[in-house]
Parts: sequence; structure tokens; C-alpha cells
Amino acid sequence: MKYKSTRGLNEEVTASQAILNGLAADGGLYIPTQIPRYEITNQRFLNNTYQELAFDIMKPFLEDFSEKELKSCIVQAYDEKFTNELIAPIKKIGSDYYLELFHGPTLAFKDMALSILPYLMTTSLKKQKIKEDVVILTATSGDTGKAAMEGFSDVTHTKIIVFYPKEGVSAIQERQMLTQKGENTFVVGINGNFDEAQTAVKEMFNDKELNQLLANNKLRFSSANSINIGRLVPQIVYYFYAYQQLVLSKEITLGDKINVSVPTGNFGNILAAYYAKKMGLPIETLICASNKNNVLTEFFKTGTYDKNRDFFVTNSPSMDILISSNLERLLATITKGNTQRLNRFMSDLDVQGSYSLEQDEQKELLEFYSGFATESEIETVVKAVFEADKYVIDPHTAVAKKVAEDHQKETNTPLKTVIVSTASPYKFPAVFLGEQVDTDEVEKLHELTGLEIPKSVLELVDLPILHDRVVNVSDMKQSVVSILSL
Ligand SMILES: *Cc1c(COP(=O)(O)O)cnc(C)c1O
Repeated sequence: MKYKSTRGLNEEVTASQAILNGLAADGGLYIPTQIPRYEITNQRFLNNTYQELAFDIMKPFLEDFSEKELKSCIVQAYDEKFTNELIAPIKKIGSDYYLELFHGPTLAFKDMALSILPYLMTTSLKKQKIKEDVVILTATSGDTGKAAMEGFSDVTHTKIIVFYPKEGVSAIQERQMLTQKGENTFVVGINGNFDEAQTAVKEMFNDKELNQLLANNKLRFSSANSINIGRLVPQIVYYFYAYQQLVLSKEITLGDKINVSVPTGNFGNILAAYYAKKMGLPIETLICASNKNNVLTEFFKTGTYDKNRDFFVTNSPSMDILISSNLERLLATITKGNTQRLNRFMSDLDVQGSYSLEQDEQKELLEFYSGFATESEIETVVKAVFEADKYVIDPHTAVAKKVAEDHQKETNTPLKTVIVSTASPYKFPAVFLGEQVDTDEVEKLHELTGLEIPKSVLELVDLPILHDRVVNVSDMKQSVVSILSL
């Protein structure tokens, strides 16, 4: 199993090279040359722990890792830093199934992949006998930044620089990042949005002069965003795990089809579900749930991707994105290796901000259902779920719940739908409370719901602020140069 660029560069690399590079040299994203099968009828499937399943699913994707290397990465990643023994438990609430992916150290699903990425990366460094240190350059809409820094904090031979939209994250998200410890972690607020941060970061990856400057200082770039296959592959695991739990609890029978509803921003999490389906997991419909920044809803309904629209800062900020990078990987499947066609889409997106699929290409989108939730719909859903079942969901999860309901109404599907729950409600308490309470939102949420406050949230209050950089988008490159003393 090798990896190649979506954009046609004639070069195949191993998993460890792809993880280290982050992005292919032609600016494309790495995709596996084939998708391995995983038979859910195999003897082990139903008995596997999360860690065992992670090994079975990830092994064929990481062919150049030895068994021992991969096992060691998994054991170090999925340990007590997850506060739930199951790592990714399914909760049956009313007639819904929530896959809770927020029991990691930073309380969002990003921990599922970012707790293992640092180990995959340092193992890759050793395998490739690379003497340079890695500089992880990362754009965040709020959750990746903290999860990546937490993962890479004080990891030898790595430094991490995170850019986040200064006015586009929740108070808790910002505080989590600004209190980050670790000599090798750097956080920079930008006067701009996530898309601008991500675009500037991608430009830096491809900036020859900057890369030369790094090389002169025995450094090289890599990425902790979901453009890195080291993020994507670990995310496939929990879809199989969810299915296993549904079978074990007799909610479904082995072989039954299910739907999954995924709150989507950069199209990383749902792409992992799509890969799980390609591997053989019986998923019928992939429900792509967006917030008011609903560029993907339009794409799946019309075949036209058009980012020329207003950008909204919403109450589900981790999904405030108009350029969903990982869609390029889906396009690679849709265009069936016609990289000329794919390059055309990408340059159209670059130049005019939009591209359109042909009729026959649109057929490939039928595995997806799309929809969106407005801010007030999110608030309504959060309240309704609590009133009905005393279960608290965060605003991103509420988006998935709302669009799953739309799908149910529209299709009357008899299949069970897994709602992917991506963050702890304690990351976004203001949405439940319905108003901006400036004093102790966390306490208030606890009072009203009885939901236990995660330790990492309680500790935040006493941690000192350690970062204070804020720059304009045009100065991001300069700030990298200055942070790294190039
Ligand atoms: C990142 C994030 C999302 C969106 O995930 P993508 O992989 O970017 O589509 C949804 N919810 C939360 C809480 C997130 O942090």
C-alpha cells in the first residue's frame, strides 16, 4: 500500500513518508493507492477492544510500520488520557445512538487522531532516518489546535505552531490554547477566519524559499490538519467500533446497514466514514451535516461547489469553514483517476471560487445526504434533546442530530442512524444557556444539567496564560520566521 497525490504527481510514497510530508509536492493531498477490505464477519471483530480494532484497521494503511511499532503507537495514544474506558462509547438516548468521541484530553473528537499522530510521526522520522526536526504548522477552527498541541507538547524533535481565528472560537477553546504548556508549542491568533489561516498554511508548505530557510536550519514542515493521512486513518477506526457496539448490544444484527450523521467542516471526519464504507462497513447513507456555512449542502444537492458567499461566525465555530480541504479526496474518487479533471476543479476553485460536476459525476454523490442547521435550530435541538431525555449535546452534535432528523423525515428510512458526537457540551456552554453569561458559564451549565464537569475544564481557571501573539493574515509567514528564529 502506497500513497499518491490527488493531483497526479507521478510519485508513490510510503505511509511514513506521507505522514512526514503532510501535503504532496504538487499541492495535492495523499490518497491510498487502494482501499483495503476489512471483513466484519472475521472471528476477531466482535471481541476486539478499541486498541485491538485500531491495530487491525490501521495496519494495512501503514504497511511500512512493523507490528511492534504500530502497537506501541496505539498503546501510548489510547490510554488513561481518555476518561471513558471504551474510548469511544455509543450512548442510546431515546431512539438515537450517539457516538461520543469527546472523552479525550481536549474534549473534542480531534483527540481521536491527534493523540496518536505524534507517535506515528516520531516513528516515521526514525524509519526514514531523518535528522531534521519537524515543524508542525496547523490552522485550526478551534479544536485541532489544542488537540495537536496537547499531543505534540514536549515531544522531542518536534515544534508546533498553531494559527486560530482570534474572533472565531469559543472562550473555553481560546483559553485551552492560550494556557498550553510545552517549550515547543506556539499559538498565534490571526485577524481572519479559518479558511484564510488554512490557505496561508498551505502556501507556506509550498513556499520554496521558506522551505530552503527551514532546511538550512535543519528543520522541515509537516501538518497536523486532516489533510495529513496520519489524521485520517485513525478516524476510520471508530466507525467500525460503533458498529461493533451496536451489534454487541443487539441493537442491530451483524450485516445490517446503518446510516451515519457527521457534523462536517473540513470534510475529514465524514471522509473517514466514507473510507470505512469502502472497506466494507455496511453504511447506507453518509449524512453530511453543515451549519449556516452550508457550502457542502449546496454541493451535494446541486453538484456545484461555490465558496463565493458570506462567511458566518456561528455557535458551532469548529465548522465555520468554506473551503473543505478533504473534499479533494472525494473528488479524486469521483473523477476516477482523471487528474486533469481534478486539477481543473482545484484551479477553478482557486481562480473563480467555484466548480461544477458533470451529471454523470454527480451520481457518485448519491451515497451522501446533505443538510444544514441554522444557529437558532441548533439552540432548539440542544434544548429539545435535554428536555426529552436529560442528555446534553454540544452545538456541533446538534447539527448532526437536526440533519439526521431531516433525513429521517424525508426518506422514512427504517435503518438506524449513528449521530457522531464531536465535542463535550462544556466546550460551548453558552449555547445551552442561550445567552452570553460572562460569569461562570461552566458552573451554570453544571447547575442546570447535573452533567459532571470534566477535570480539564475545572483546571483551566487556574492555569496562567502563556501565549499572546496576534497577527494579520499577511504576517503569518513572518511570524513563523520569527518564532523559529530563521
Ligand atoms: C473539527 C470539528 C468538526 C468538523 O470536523 P471535520 O473533520 O473538519 O469535518 C465538528 N465538530 C467539532 C467539535 C470539531 O472540532
